[in-house]
Amino acid sequence: MTAERRIRVLFDEAAIAGRNDEIAQAIAAAHLKDLLVVAILKGSFMFAADLLRTLHRAGLTPQVEFMQLSSYGLGTTSVGQVTMIKDIESDVRGRDVLLVDDILESGRTLAFAKDLLVARGARAVKCCVMLEKPRRRAVNIVPDYVGFPCPDVFVVGYGMDVGHSYRQLPFVGVIED
Ligand code: 5GP
Ligand code: MG
Ligand code: MG
Repeated sequence: MTAERRIRVLFDEAAIAGRNDEIAQAIAAAHLKDLLVVAILKGSFMFAADLLRTLHRAGLTPQVEFMQLSSYGLGTTSVGQVTMIKDIESDVRGRDVLLVDDILESGRTLAFAKDLLVARGARAVKCCVMLEKPRRRAVNIVPDYVGFPCPDVFVVGYGMDVGHSYRQLPFVGVIED
């Protein structure tokens, strides 16, 4: 059992929903062809589910795949190496891919996924992240779509965990001790 801890809200449900609509409009305006959305598990599941519904409302008809990658253990610091736990099943050759992740920090997770899909022959690989920590990059990757810049703190909620808890929160927040 996880003890109840106080959580300070950084991005609430309304702010996230409004921003998701704006991102979907920007993605629709890019006229991606034969679009495949690849959500990076586990952290992006809630963002991806909401974004897909806004993409639908924006008139897009993407297919959806899931790739599970791990660079964090149970703690709050990256171990620096990305391992694949689950691969996608679709052939990406010639397709436009939109990678969706929860948060961009060192950039290793997204760079790993992007390099892999480019090597497999995707026509274009765009990156969409809910949150971006601007000063933490270890590899050179620039996201195409960003929900919000994130302060340099460990956040939870809206799919993001600490020790497997807090993913269910409908908002993004910081645990206050
Ligand atoms: P990167 O590979 O860019 O360093 O790390 C990206 C991954 O680390 C994210 O997909 C996310 O799973 C995890 N991560 C990075 N920062 C945070 C954070 O503040 N909170 C949580 N819960 N996960 C984070
Ligand atoms: Mg993640
Ligand atoms: Mg995690």
